[in-house]
Amino acid sequence: MSSKTDVPVSPAPSEVGADLYFRTQLDQGNFLIQRCTACARSVFYPRMICPHCGDDHLEWYAPSGKGQVYSTTVVRRKAEHGGDYNVALIDLQEGVRMMSRVENVEPGAVKIGLAVKAKVVDAEGGKLVIFSPAEGQQ
Ligand SMILES: [Zn+2]
Repeated sequence: MSSKTDVPVSPAPSEVGADLYFRTQLDQGNFLIQRCTACARSVFYPRMICPHCGDDHLEWYAPSGKGQVYSTTVVRRKAEHGGDYNVALIDLQEGVRMMSRVENVEPGAVKIGLAVKAKVVDAEGGKLVIFSPAEGQQ
């Protein structure tokens, strides 16, 4: 499983909302987050203004995709609707937290602190960033 880490990134046109830019990139298979050029901290979810320092110069870049499970929940669902699934908050190495889910492992086996890796998958209504256990974890 390879992930894109050196996607050429062009600045978001100011007239395009940050959310829309994120979605457009994601639909092309590119998972991008933002970084503030003033305070150098990473930003997610997409915004126009840095939540850390208030600066409005945010640049897009491809994160490593590496993260750790911060919290995890099993959502119960009937087998005929696809069975139970996992919902997790993931802390990316870059210092941002995002809600997603961890796949390729039993929903209840996802533990806090588990090392995970992001990937972009097709889902209903467009592409989605999900996570699976990083190599070397069961
Ligand atoms: Zn900032």
